[in-house]
Amino acid sequence: MIDLRSDTVTLPTPAMRRAMAEAEVGDDVYGEDPTVNRLEAMAAERLGKEAGLFVVSGTMANLVSILTHCGRGDEIIIGHQSHTFLYEAGGSASLGGIHHYAIPNQPDGTLRLEDIEAAIRPDNVHFARSRLVCLENTQNRCGGAVLSPEYTDAVCHLAHGHGLSVHLDGARIFNAAVALGVEVSELTRSVDAVGFCLSKGLSAPVGSVLCGSAGFIAETRRWRKAVGGGMRQCGVLAAAGIVALEEMVDRLAEDHENARLLAEGIADARGIAIDPSKVRTDIVILEVTSERVSAAQLVAALLERGIQMTAFGPTQIRAVTHYGITEVDIQTTVGAIREVMGGMG
Ligand SMILES: *Cc1c(COP(=O)(O)O)cnc(C)c1O
Repeated sequence: MIDLRSDTVTLPTPAMRRAMAEAEVGDDVYGEDPTVNRLEAMAAERLGKEAGLFVVSGTMANLVSILTHCGRGDEIIIGHQSHTFLYEAGGSASLGGIHHYAIPNQPDGTLRLEDIEAAIRPDNVHFARSRLVCLENTQNRCGGAVLSPEYTDAVCHLAHGHGLSVHLDGARIFNAAVALGVEVSELTRSVDAVGFCLSKGLSAPVGSVLCGSAGFIAETRRWRKAVGGGMRQCGVLAAAGIVALEEMVDRLAEDHENARLLAEGIADARGIAIDPSKVRTDIVILEVTSERVSAAQLVAALLERGIQMTAFGPTQIRAVTHYGITEVDIQTTVGAIREVMGGMG
C-alpha cells in the first residue's frame, strides 16, 4: 500500500525504537520523568519559549491551551477552516463553555487582519468576552499553506493591542519552517502559546508538545490532568519525540519535494485541477473537475491499485507525503491517477 491519507500514518524509525527501549523513565505526573523533562525543555528552547508540556495529541495541545486562556463564556476568534473548529469534537465548547467566533480563512491560510479586528467585541454585557485568536500553521484545509513570520507578528500585534492572546496550532510548524527556510522560533516568537505534533511528519508514534511562558505552562498542567492526559512513565514515548526533533526535521524537505512532484505530475491530467505552485509543504489537495468521475470514485479506483488518499468533500481529495513515501511511490501514484482519469467513464 502507498498510504497518502495522512502524515499521521508514519511509523517510528529504528532509532526511535531503540531510544524508546532504553529510555530512562519516572512518574511524569510527579514531574519525575527525566526523558519527558528533557523533551519539554528541548521543544521550548527550539520554539523560543520558557516551558513545554508533553501531551497525548495535537487535539489535547489545542484544548488545554484554549481552556487555560479562556473561561466560561469567553470567546475565541478562529478560522472557519481550522482544525480546531472542524475536527476537534467541539471540545473547548463542551468542556469549557467557550464560544467560537469563526471568521473566513483566505485561500492562503491567513485570517484577514480586518476580519480579526471586526470580530473583537467591545466590552458590553451583551457580548461574549473576546479572549484569544487562534492561528494554524501550516493550514491543513488550505493545502498545507504556510503563514510567514511577518504575518504572524502582525496578528499578534493586533491581538495584543486589544488585550487578547494568540494560540498557534502548529501541528505542522516544522513543515512551515522548512518550507520558508527560517528557524521555527521566527514563526512562534510573538505568539503566547504554540503546540506542535511529534506524530505527523516527524514520525514519532505519539504526542505533541505545547509551549509558552513558564506561568502559562504551569496552569496547563492542571487542565491536562483534568482531561485525563496525565501519563506516568511516558518517557518511553517522549524518547521517540526527542529523536523526532533531532533527526526528522530537516528531511521534511523531501516530503515537500515529493508533494510538488505529485502535483506537477497530475497538473495536466484529465478532469483534475491543481496549481502546483500552491503546494508548499507535504499536503496536496486536488480538485476533481470531471463529470464522469467523482472524487469518491477516484479514491476507490486508487485503492484498488494499492494507493490510499482521503476524500476531502465531494470534489476534493487530499494526499499527504511523509517518511516512508519514496519518489518511486509518487511516480506510481501519478501513473495511477492519469490512468484512472483517462480511462474511466
Ligand atoms: C492533526 C492536526 C491536529 C490534531 O492532532 P492529533 O494529534 O491528531 O490530535 C491539530 N491541528 C492540525 C492542523 C492538525 O493537522
